[in-house]
Amino acid sequence: MRSAALFILLAATALAADWRDQAVLDLSKTPNALLHPVPVRAVTLQTGFWKSRQDVTIQSSMPTLLTLLEEHGVVDNFRRIAAQSNYTPRRGPLYTDSDLYKWIEGAAWSLHARPDPKLEATIDKLVDEILAAQEPSGYLNTWFVEEREPLRFKQMNSGHELYCLGHMIQGAVAYYRATGKRKLLDGGIRFADYLLKDFGPAPKRALLTGHPELELALTELYRVTGKRAYLDLAGYLLSGVEKDRLKLRPRDTQYMFSGIPFTSREQFEGHAVRALYAATGAADYWLETGNPQYKQTLDRLWTDLVTGKVFVTGGVGSRASGEAFGDSWELPNRQAYTESCASIASLIFNQRLLAGSGDAKYTDIMERALYNGINSGMSLDGTLYCYRNPLATGPGEKIRNPWYDTCCCPPNLQRTFTALGGYFYSTSKDGVWVHLYDNTTMDWRLESGAALKLETRSGQPFQGNVELTLSPAKPEEFTLHLRIPAWSLNTKVLINGQPAGAVARPNSYLALKRVWKGGDRVTMELDMSTHLVRANPRVPENYGKAAVQRGPLVYCLEQSDNGTTPVSDVALNAQGGFKVETGDARLGGATVLRHKGRAWQPSLASEPLYGFAVPKPAAEADLTFVPYYTFHNRGASAMTVWIPLLP
Ligand SMILES: [Zn+2]
Repeated sequence: MRSAALFILLAATALAADWRDQAVLDLSKTPNALLHPVPVRAVTLQTGFWKSRQDVTIQSSMPTLLTLLEEHGVVDNFRRIAAQSNYTPRRGPLYTDSDLYKWIEGAAWSLHARPDPKLEATIDKLVDEILAAQEPSGYLNTWFVEEREPLRFKQMNSGHELYCLGHMIQGAVAYYRATGKRKLLDGGIRFADYLLKDFGPAPKRALLTGHPELELALTELYRVTGKRAYLDLAGYLLSGVEKDRLKLRPRDTQYMFSGIPFTSREQFEGHAVRALYAATGAADYWLETGNPQYKQTLDRLWTDLVTGKVFVTGGVGSRASGEAFGDSWELPNRQAYTESCASIASLIFNQRLLAGSGDAKYTDIMERALYNGINSGMSLDGTLYCYRNPLATGPGEKIRNPWYDTCCCPPNLQRTFTALGGYFYSTSKDGVWVHLYDNTTMDWRLESGAALKLETRSGQPFQGNVELTLSPAKPEEFTLHLRIPAWSLNTKVLINGQPAGAVARPNSYLALKRVWKGGDRVTMELDMSTHLVRANPRVPENYGKAAVQRGPLVYCLEQSDNGTTPVSDVALNAQGGFKVETGDARLGGATVLRHKGRAWQPSLASEPLYGFAVPKPAAEADLTFVPYYTFHNRGASAMTVWIPLLP
């Protein structure tokens, strides 16, 4: 009896501790995950680049966006159902439920490392209001009610019912992992179980994600609950077997990136966010099942992405029409669609592939997106957002706005920034991995079970210094895998002041295996040279041009810094260097770059459209470059990333 009681007590203790140990993705039992992300709560962001962005997210962006969600009726859409009277008409497009779920997810991740009882009470109240609208069957959606109830699951191409459920589950999982509270999670489970009962392979009703998202949510729900049926449902959605039952046309399956077998995909096409969410869900499915056809498809798609479809800012999506991928090398600057959500989708797609491989080529894409095309999505003060993140704008072109009726991007940015602690470190059987450098403290453990504290101090992304101090509970042999970024062509690494004795190749992880003991220090000097980046000449818009990159940051020219010469009338001098100026107070302390370039005077606007010789830019021009993520923070002025390059 006593041993049985002890067993129950131990089991209960293990269960209670479990939610605290779960990371952004809980890959702890995932067969094909070589790397396991460290829980968000185990990483403290110290004063530095990302902490200041996270502070702005939590202190400014989250409260102001909740006010706007209230003002636009997003929360009332739930309240009116529970009130069962003429409370107020439903407002907004049919997918607004997902915006609130994503806001909750962002708030939930912020609680992991920064407990806040007031914020928790706000979430609890919202959860109660959301679940008061859930039907006894488990169904929950504020659009398909009343006169639209007969349309449930009859508009699967465009209805977003499953997209909303996916975000409900993700918000619920994040909140459960923050607090151990299961209420919203149980609501999500009720809806998922409702689907399992009636939908799936024949003779059940056919199911389709018109906007993929549920695939990844179901896999995470499987990881939380251990219920295999959720993973199988994700696999069924990815299998695309219902094309004929649902009478899908080729243009539907191309746009939605669902409805045909995922493993038959040859390239990224159609709606960029849909395609990358589908691929992310498929990567999750591969991590859990090891299905080689999925891996082959993921490799094929990743290669397609990086050889011709990702912008230098990490943005994705070339065409406004259909918010879509273009052809390979179709990467227009001013017309770039590059939705914030698509860059985030690329981040989480590559996050899964990194976990399955430990290959730095995935981290390179993650970093490019995070520091540039995602970071640009929220203004420095956290109140304005980009839906599009183009690589050039004309004068007065307004890109940043406080609100969008399709409000997918703002809370997506929030949940990314508040979960960031979960992106810096991973563990593997043989040790610990450091993916990004900032001022952070990891207080976690090795997979051997031994406690490990790891302090990173760095001036990234503006300075190349990195110092890591390791404090294992006792001396222990393990491998420290340090990411050497692709842009750091010469990297110096010292262990306790002595050369590390290993070659730090760009775009790789440097494996340092030894018996580590308390107080061991690794110092790195990353190469912060300013690079001129050239595009493959097949990108027609960028032929003869260069972009400027220093560290992980891509730079741009803004008219407001560059006097009266239009930024479309200047050229870079390939021979001329860049002067680095740190701490620009107007841009939150960012480093700016000065360069002696050339300008066309008089303006190219006065030149004929066609001639037999290209006019030469004769005048000297003092050019100021600012990090791309800061564009349009001082008003809407002309901006450009790619600039003509003189020999
Ligand atoms: Zn979006």
